[in-house]
Amino acid sequence: MYVRCLLLLIAVIVADASKKRYDGKIVLSVEPSEEAHFQFLSYLEDHSQIDIWNELARNTSVHVMIDRNNQTTLMPIFESLNMKPKIMINDIQRLLDGEEQTLRTLSRIGSGRGIQDSFYNYDQLTAWLKQMEADFPTFAKLISIGKTYENRDIWVMKITSPSGGTKKTAMMDFGIHAREWISPATGAYMINEFLTQYSAGGDAKTIMDTWELHIVPVLNPDGYAYSHSNDRMWRKNRKPVSAGCVGVDLNRNFGHQWNTGGSSASACADTFHGGSRMSENEAKALEKYMTGKTWTTYLTFHSYGQWWFTNWGYTTVDPPNYALLKQKAQIGLNAIQSVNGRRYTLGSSAQLLYIASGGSEDWTAGSLGIFYSYCLELPPTGGTGFIAPVSEIKRTGAETFVGMVAYFKAL
Ligand SMILES: [Zn+2]
Repeated sequence: MYVRCLLLLIAVIVADASKKRYDGKIVLSVEPSEEAHFQFLSYLEDHSQIDIWNELARNTSVHVMIDRNNQTTLMPIFESLNMKPKIMINDIQRLLDGEEQTLRTLSRIGSGRGIQDSFYNYDQLTAWLKQMEADFPTFAKLISIGKTYENRDIWVMKITSPSGGTKKTAMMDFGIHAREWISPATGAYMINEFLTQYSAGGDAKTIMDTWELHIVPVLNPDGYAYSHSNDRMWRKNRKPVSAGCVGVDLNRNFGHQWNTGGSSASACADTFHGGSRMSENEAKALEKYMTGKTWTTYLTFHSYGQWWFTNWGYTTVDPPNYALLKQKAQIGLNAIQSVNGRRYTLGSSAQLLYIASGGSEDWTAGSLGIFYSYCLELPPTGGTGFIAPVSEIKRTGAETFVGMVAYFKAL
């Protein structure tokens, strides 16, 4: 018994040792207002001095993870540039330790706790999806649309009611970026809400009787699994690219105007666009599944920042359907705001942020011709950023569900 306990203990220590630690890392909030500020931040990011957590936008606080050792150098520079640096997170590792402890406790509690109470890892999520399909065979169909480099299934959960007639169709994907955990959690929340609330009538029934929803809860399974097991701050997929560099930024790999700005050719960079357009299994899987079908709308969910982006990402030129895109999105945003009072900013991503090419919503609009193509950045706008408390799953899930229902009804 003693030996067994000892072995278990060693196993735990080994498991923990494989996890990347963020000791001495802090997050600063800065306020860039001029071109020179953005160039400075981009330079620092390119040279791995900082990791920018949220979107680099004008008139918005930008959150940068830095090494505490560099604080004495960087703070005065940010101050001299009038970028108003403030400490947003004082000790990232402490936050991560707390998060891990919470998830461990929740998984020990087990039954009675559901998808809305914890950030499931990939295997837990897969088991849950299979269970939901078994529990709701009339409404749910789980389909593997492809395999990742590490041979994980990329799941689509197709949700609709058997009631007849031609239905509108939505593709919604979550978790393109591994560390944005609130995104897959929100996707799972919506799957759960639609399936469990159908019998009660109401909005879930209204939508499922008139729509076919295709939901990819995690479009980047390898990266997501890795963010749970090895590195909480991982963003890309896990395909080895070159010596010492792993992963492609899937949201720079899609094939409309690929590699035309705002992505990196450097394999180690967090925004590495891949060797060629649609080079990655995850992008190919979505392409194979979506091509040849008619889609009313496409929505891709990231975090964080509370943005609802229309096209385009690759150019600041207005999309031809800009007015309608904004009009329908605003209906969704008003509904979201009605739940918890949280406001989003709406507009073309290249106009609100900086140009970024290879995004999935540019590809669905530009290559597949999907009229209503959007990208959402879920909450929060600050706080603990990617490391959201588990209570945020219900809060974000509930308001996003209400927002989506209102948006679907408006189409
Ligand atoms: Zn993202």
